[in-house]
Amino acid sequence: MTFSPELTFNDGNTIPQLGYGVWQVEDDVAEKVVVQAFEAGFRHIDTAKIYGNEAGVGRAIQRSGLTADEIFITTKLWNADQGYESTLEAFEASMERLGIETLDLYLIHWQQPKQDKYVDTWKALIELQKRGRVRSIGVSNFTTEGLQRIIDETGVVPAINQVELHPFFNQAELRAFNASKGILTQAWSPLGQGGELLEHATIADIAAKHNASPAQVVIAWHLALGNVVIPKSVTESRIRENYAALEVTLDGSDIEAIDGLDRTAEGAGRIGPDPAVSDFA
Ligand code: NAD
Repeated sequence: MTFSPELTFNDGNTIPQLGYGVWQVEDDVAEKVVVQAFEAGFRHIDTAKIYGNEAGVGRAIQRSGLTADEIFITTKLWNADQGYESTLEAFEASMERLGIETLDLYLIHWQQPKQDKYVDTWKALIELQKRGRVRSIGVSNFTTEGLQRIIDETGVVPAINQVELHPFFNQAELRAFNASKGILTQAWSPLGQGGELLEHATIADIAAKHNASPAQVVIAWHLALGNVVIPKSVTESRIRENYAALEVTLDGSDIEAIDGLDRTAEGAGRIGPDPAVSDFA
């Protein structure tokens, strides 16, 4: 079986570049589809406390028979749990549900600038890493200002920043900032949540050229850009199809054409909340 390439964090640990996300997947369904994802070849699973399926992911890990060093598990600290002590507690509750000894990656789910607890929350993640409870620590939905502030106030640079990123919203500026700090960029909603993006003529033409599917072309674009990418599907054939995107290699003109789909300049493209202003604890 072909396995995903690994990217190296600034702390020396590695992450499989292609992973599998389980947002909006019921707990019992998560158990089934994560087992299917493991069977397809995925070894990296992205969950979060707020998804309500950490226990299902944990049961899938048990059922898979895979060992801790064969898999990579990410979960995220929810907004309502931000703050130093509450983060330490929320982490242990997540670990209980996942049923694993050590977590591979723990993320602050949203910066929540109005709540303004993210520096203390980041300090708790640093402590969890020092205690050996988590191998790597990072953030999600952080702006350049938020990143700079936690780096300045703690001296610890996040391993990764997981943000909305797809061809309609390609985050060129934030990707460049992340790279300049040694922070990997991880793409959420990498397929633009399906729909319009996967039906776009540019994607369809490139897919036909490579005898690949539209989803595979978009995943291959992320891989070529150096993004960590976590497409979601609960359909077994699509889970396998998405994993097989590892076999698709785009050329420079394909990548340029997909880069050209970005709608940021028109103030469009973003699907989810803007982390600079979102406040939904
Ligand atoms: P996505 O971009 O991965 O799109 C998923 C949808 O695309 C599916 O529901 C399906 O409708 C369609 N799809 C998937 N594979 C397909 C295929 N091969 N052919 C045709 N259609 C296909 O959307 P997502 O679930 O929003 O994002 C992926 C993961 O990112 C999530 O599961 C979660 O782990 C993570 N995420 C994180 C945050 C965050 O705030 N950190 C927010 C959203 C998502």
